[in-house]
Amino acid sequence: MVGRVRTVAVVGLEAVTVTVEAHVAGGLPGFSVIGSWGPAAGQAADRVRTALAAVGVAMPGRKVLISLAPADLPKAGARFDLAMAAAILLELGVVEQSRVDGMALLGELGLDGGVRQVPGVLPSAAALRAATGVQRLAVADGNAAEAALAGGPEVVPVSHLAELVAVLRGEQAARSVPAEDDGITAEAVPAAASPDLADVRGQAEARRALEVAAAGGHHLLLLGPPGCGKSMLARRLPGILPPLRADQALELAAVRSVAGLLGGPTRLDLRPPLCSPHHTMSAAALFGGGSGVARPGQLSLAHHGVLFLDELFEWPRGVIEALRQPLEDGVICVARSRATVTYPARVQLVCAANPCPCGGGDRCSCSDDAIWAYRSRLSGPLADRLDLAPAVEPLSAADLLSAQTGESSADVAARVAAARAAARDRWAEAVSCNAVAPARMVRRSVQPAALRTLANAVQAGALTGRGYDRALRVARTCADLEGSETVGTDHVLEAYAHRLGLRPQQPAAAGPAAARPSAVGPAVAVAEW
Ligand SMILES: [Zn+2]
Repeated sequence: MVGRVRTVAVVGLEAVTVTVEAHVAGGLPGFSVIGSWGPAAGQAADRVRTALAAVGVAMPGRKVLISLAPADLPKAGARFDLAMAAAILLELGVVEQSRVDGMALLGELGLDGGVRQVPGVLPSAAALRAATGVQRLAVADGNAAEAALAGGPEVVPVSHLAELVAVLRGEQAARSVPAEDDGITAEAVPAAASPDLADVRGQAEARRALEVAAAGGHHLLLLGPPGCGKSMLARRLPGILPPLRADQALELAAVRSVAGLLGGPTRLDLRPPLCSPHHTMSAAALFGGGSGVARPGQLSLAHHGVLFLDELFEWPRGVIEALRQPLEDGVICVARSRATVTYPARVQLVCAANPCPCGGGDRCSCSDDAIWAYRSRLSGPLADRLDLAPAVEPLSAADLLSAQTGESSADVAARVAAARAAARDRWAEAVSCNAVAPARMVRRSVQPAALRTLANAVQAGALTGRGYDRALRVARTCADLEGSETVGTDHVLEAYAHRLGLRPQQPAAAGPAAARPSAVGPAVAVAEW
C-alpha cells in the first residue's frame, strides 16, 4: 500500500502535475525524498516530520520513502511539503485514499504545522483546470484568492495541517473560495491610482512623443538635463495606455505569481505595469536568474507594460545589447543549471538619458567630441529599435510661475484609445499595435509622396533600412491620432522629426544625419523603392 497524492511543479511559467508517493519500508529509521530534488530536500523532510508531530502524528520507527514523479522534472522550494505530509497521512492510515482522490495540494509547512503560501500558485491552478481528475486544490489561506483567479478547480484554503487532517477525515467541513468566472470580473483600477499628466507643465514636444508612443506601442528615449522631468514623464506613460485585456492581465499575474509578488489579489489588476530597474542592477535581476531554475526578472515583470531604464548611458553595454533579442521576440530565454526557461517579455521600452556627459543645460561646456563620444554609447542597433527621442527641456520661469496645469491623463488616454481602436480595426486580430505591424502592411496605407520623402532620407544616409520601417510605423500612429485613413507627408515628417534625437550630430562635418525634416524634401534624389 502506497499513499499517493497530487501536487504541481512550476518550471518557468509551465506547470506540471506531480504525483507524490509515500512508502513506509523496513530498515533503519529515516526519511528520504527522491525525484530530482533541489538542495532543500533534507530541509523539507525535517519540516514535514516536525509538522506531523505537531498534529500528533508520530513517524514510524522505520524507513519513510517519498517519491516525486516525474523524476526528471526539476523541483525546488517548499511547495511540496503539504502534499508530502498528506501522502504520509495516507500511508499511515490516518486518512483514506478516497478522500484525497481528485484533490491536489500546494503549500509549505511551518514547524508548528501551519500552512504557508508559496509562489507560482496561479499558473499551477490554471494547469490543474485543464488536467483531468482534479476537482479541488488545497492551498494556504494567503494563496486562496490567487488560486481562484484561474477559474478552477475549487479552492480549499487550509491554515494548518490539523485543519487538513480534520477536513480529510470528514470531521470538519472544508472552507471554500468560489472560483472566478471565465469572464474574470476584473475592474479597471481608478485613474487616480497612477500619477497624472496634469502635473507636467510645458514640455509640448515630449508630451506629444509620449502620446504617440502610447498610441502605437513605440519605444521611447527621453533626452534632457537632470531634473527636467524625464522620469516624471516616463512614470505617466502607463496611465495613458489602454487597460490590459483579461488574458494579458492573467499572463502578467502568472509572472508575478512565479516571482512570489502577486500577494493576495481579489481581482485581476488591469493596469499596465511599470518597472524601473536601477543601472547597478545585475543582469540576472533584469533578465531573470537565480540558482537552479531562473525566476523572472524586471523585464518579464514589465510584460504588457513599460520597462523604464533611467540613465541609459550608465547601464553596462552588454546589458543594453542583450535587450535587443527580447525586444524583438517578446520573450526572454534564461538558462540555469537545472532548467532553461522562457518568460514572456513584451514590453514598451522607455529610456532616459542626459544629452551630454555633464548633464547638459545652460551651463554645459562639453566639447562636440565629448558629446559625440558620449552619445555614441547608444549603439546603432539599439538606436534603430527606438522610435522616438524627444528633447525634454528644463522648465522655464514662465512655466514654473504659470498656474495652468497640463492636459490630464484621462484626456490623452481617450485620444490614445481612439487611435488604438482605429489600428485594431485595420489590423484585425493579427497585430496588437502599430509598433509590431509588418512593414509591408503599413506601407499599403502610405501615400506615394510620403513614401518618397522617407526614402530620400534613407538615400541621404539619415535613416537606415530598419529606421525607415520604424518611422513608417510611427507615421501610421500619427495618422491614427488624427483619425486619418492614409498616411501623408506631414505624418511621415513628424515621425522623422521624432527620430532626430537618436542620431547625434557628428562634430566638424555635420552630415545629413543632422538634416531637419524640411531638408529631406524632393531636393534629394528620389530613391528606388
Ligand atoms: Zn555638457
